[in-house]
Amino acid sequence: LKPGDPDYPVPSSEAVSNAMRQNRKTGSRPEVSLRRELHRRGLRYRKNPPLRTDAGIVTPDLAFVGPKVAVFVDGCFWHSCPTHGNTPETNRGYWEPKLRRNRERDREATAALIAEGWVVVRVWEHEPPKGAATTVETAVRSRAMQPNSD
Ligand SMILES: [Zn+2]
Repeated sequence: LKPGDPDYPVPSSEAVSNAMRQNRKTGSRPEVSLRRELHRRGLRYRKNPPLRTDAGIVTPDLAFVGPKVAVFVDGCFWHSCPTHGNTPETNRGYWEPKLRRNRERDREATAALIAEGWVVVRVWEHEPPKGAATTVETAVRSRAMQPNSD
């Protein structure tokens, strides 16, 4: 079921429509801002690289392949941010399991990458890009200084 299907619930609030608009492959606005900030700091990453794990392919929003740092920019709605995440009152029976499944999938993806030796950084879309970039940069730089264990 995806937007456009006849049975797809009509978004009941502006927040939901915004969240849906931002859930595109090209990257949400917060993701683009983060990428721009990382690029400005001289950090080079790959966008949406499919990473092989024992649990299947995991595709983070960004990855620093050398230091093995994977970055996810989690949308507040889709990933149930503690500050802005909420289940829409309309079609609750549809959204509740869907959002719960999203959280499970987040945990599974994180665990699968960690098992492969990746460091996983998750930032919320509401985080200011500079702060999020610093979180990512710190992880990448501290990883880059460690000898590669592979
Ligand atoms: Zn949020």
